[in-house]
Amino acid sequence: MSEKLLTDVALNVGETFDKIKKSAENSGRDPSEIRLMAVTKTVAPEKINEAIKAGCDLLGENKVQELLEKYESYDKSAEIHFIGRLQTNKVKYIVDKVSMIESVDSLKLAEEIEKRCSKINKVMDILLEVNIADEESKGGFSAEEVVGISEKIGDFPHLRLRGLMTIGRFGAEIEETRQYFKKMRHLLVDIKAKNIDNIYINILSMGMSADYELAVSEGATIVRVGQGLFGARKYV
Ligand SMILES: *Cc1c(COP(=O)(O)O)cnc(C)c1O
Repeated sequence: MSEKLLTDVALNVGETFDKIKKSAENSGRDPSEIRLMAVTKTVAPEKINEAIKAGCDLLGENKVQELLEKYESYDKSAEIHFIGRLQTNKVKYIVDKVSMIESVDSLKLAEEIEKRCSKINKVMDILLEVNIADEESKGGFSAEEVVGISEKIGDFPHLRLRGLMTIGRFGAEIEETRQYFKKMRHLLVDIKAKNIDNIYINILSMGMSADYELAVSEGATIVRVGQGLFGARKYV
């Protein structure tokens, strides 16, 4: 009987790391600047742990309920970032479980994270979510307002602004997406220039299964990949 040495997930993780490395090198970047996030929505914990075992040390959760249900089953060597719409009344359930909230899309949410983190004496790393394509259906700050918001975040002692996150427009052509990614990189530079405490501002979370190589070539430091690691999502 032949033994299967690597699972499909492990193979996908390896392949994705290779592609990130190639794309980084082709654009003159150091591959070690880029982290691969395994996006876990709808995926069973066993599969997620296979990805961790294969070297993926960062998970992305986009639903509070799902995070709470699956959290205990995860191999604790991986970090978890929250990446989805977050209602203020649910912040309290996750502040002790995640190391970063990437999807801060309102000042009200920032205030609630500040309040909950002050209670547990934690400084939370955050990213501001940018609605870079100005889509009505999407949350996030507009490109025009995000620099001003970043300055306000400096007043919150339990929040540490680390950078920006975006979800590209679904169905966009590659050249359109490239322009969004470029715009994100420029916004990060603008925000760094405006903030006195700017040494931590170095994260650009952008690119998913369909476009993470492009995102790497345009400056992403976190790429968020779900289906590319775990196969097509089946919603139940
Ligand atoms: C689902 C999701 C992803 C990953 O999408 P894939 O197409 O599965 O790679 C990335 N970011 C966010 C915020 C998501 O919700």
